[in-house]
Amino acid sequence: MSDCVFCDIATGRSPASIVYQDETALAFMDIYPIHPGHTLVIPRVHIQDLAQCPLELAGQLFIASSRVAPAVVAATDAAGFNVWTANGKEAGQEVFHLHLHILPRFVGDTFGLRFPKGYPAAAPRSELEEMAAHIRQAAQR
Ligand SMILES: [Zn+2]
Repeated sequence: MSDCVFCDIATGRSPASIVYQDETALAFMDIYPIHPGHTLVIPRVHIQDLAQCPLELAGQLFIASSRVAPAVVAATDAAGFNVWTANGKEAGQEVFHLHLHILPRFVGDTFGLRFPKGYPAAAPRSELEEMAAHIRQAAQR
């Protein structure tokens, strides 16, 4: 066993209910499903989060997710689905091996994100332009 539960799953040292695999990605059932069908897509190699992920691999993970998500919806008769990834403890990441959640959604399923008080409030264009400039400047990838 390593100190990463998803590396152990990727190498077959720990059991998982696998739904998809290719050379770079693996998809399996979340052991703590929010809803039945909740599936995780991970890279086979240990990468902490999306910010650390090589761009080509990020694309491959999204391709794998795009293959798995419709199958999850079909198998669960879901009304829709979310794909998301938590990056960093403050964002809710609990296993520090990059993973994308594929969460089937059902009418009235009560799951949701909490928005801050006062949302939605449109930001002034000048603030948006200033932040966009900071982000463009910070983009080194
Ligand atoms: Zn790992």
